Amino acid sequence: MITRAPRGTQSSTTTGPRTTPLWQQALARAIKDPETLLQRLGLPSTSLPSAQAGHRLFRTRIPESYLARMRPGNPDDPLLRQVMPRNEETHELPGFVSDPVGDHDALAAPGVVHKYHGRALLLTTGACAIHCRYCFRREFDYAEHNPAQDDWEPALDYIAGHPELHEIILSGGDPLALSDVRLKRLADRLAAIPHLQRLRIHTRLPVVLPERVDDALLTWLGQGRLQHVLVLHANHPREFAAPADAALRRLQAAGITLLNQAVLLAGVNDDVETLVELQEAGFRLGVLPYYLHQLDRTRGTAHFEVPDARAHALYQALHARLPGYLVPRLAREISGAPGKTLLALFPGRE
Ligand SMILES: *Cc1c(COP(=O)(O)O)cnc(C)c1O
Ligand code: SF4
Repeated sequence: MITRAPRGTQSSTTTGPRTTPLWQQALARAIKDPETLLQRLGLPSTSLPSAQAGHRLFRTRIPESYLARMRPGNPDDPLLRQVMPRNEETHELPGFVSDPVGDHDALAAPGVVHKYHGRALLLTTGACAIHCRYCFRREFDYAEHNPAQDDWEPALDYIAGHPELHEIILSGGDPLALSDVRLKRLADRLAAIPHLQRLRIHTRLPVVLPERVDDALLTWLGQGRLQHVLVLHANHPREFAAPADAALRRLQAAGITLLNQAVLLAGVNDDVETLVELQEAGFRLGVLPYYLHQLDRTRGTAHFEVPDARAHALYQALHARLPGYLVPRLAREISGAPGKTLLALFPGRE
């Protein structure tokens, strides 16, 4: 049960441990500096200067439960690679820019990104439980473009005024970083807009901070007029290991549709075995693959890029290995396009 804080002390940091949900306590305990990260994994401090250079651009943040799924002593661990800052993030390379997907140009109302037909993104919070080094939003100015705390009015007005919208996608940051009190209030307001049919939530929290999937979340998420879809984000099969597996089983038992999007990342999942295992591990927990994204060319992320030719080869191998329903759509976000651009399935004629 979530306990509502007294007015004016809504922020979890001002409430005592008795009233703070366990997941918020777990979030507060996340690792926030590269030195601790290296120590906890038994890695030499020789890579500390490089890590600090990246950390200065985008702060380190790793929940304990995610750390527990890494292999100690392995500097190349695919989970560690996603979250360990490094000096390469300071490199300026042609084509790698601060807003590669053009979010800044597409804000239709405060916090609303309406680029695609029938659905719009609502940017709910800048906060995330984990800081993924490849993130395309690492430089997005959330403070400027998010609805103020609890002030959804301009965004709701916009959505109510656009009957062609059938689906709202809560995005961020990570929408599940918000409290259930605020999320339920927002979900209720959206459910009252008659032309909406679905509420989709893009979140990495059930995977990286499984404590988030508690009774309070399941209660509101399992109810309401709108169909609820959760699009998770896991890139490596080990991210589906305990304790995330139990959290996802509970979500599935609550009747929520679960999909996964992954990003194709060099040194993390750019081999067929890992990609096959990712889809199979997800499906064992009731998660269907959705997208496999080619990296957005965000400044400081070039060391994660997988060349398109390699991406195509991996994708064809994936098709050959898996039933069709376990093959995610290989896609790339192209600024200004009316939807995600799918990479061709037919054998190339290059
Ligand atoms: C990815 C995205 C969506 C959702 O697209 P789907 O193909 O429905 O998953 C919607 N709006 C924006 C701006 C997006 O980037
Ligand atoms: S959880 Fe998502 S939005 Fe947050 S840093 Fe990771 S990729 Fe970016």
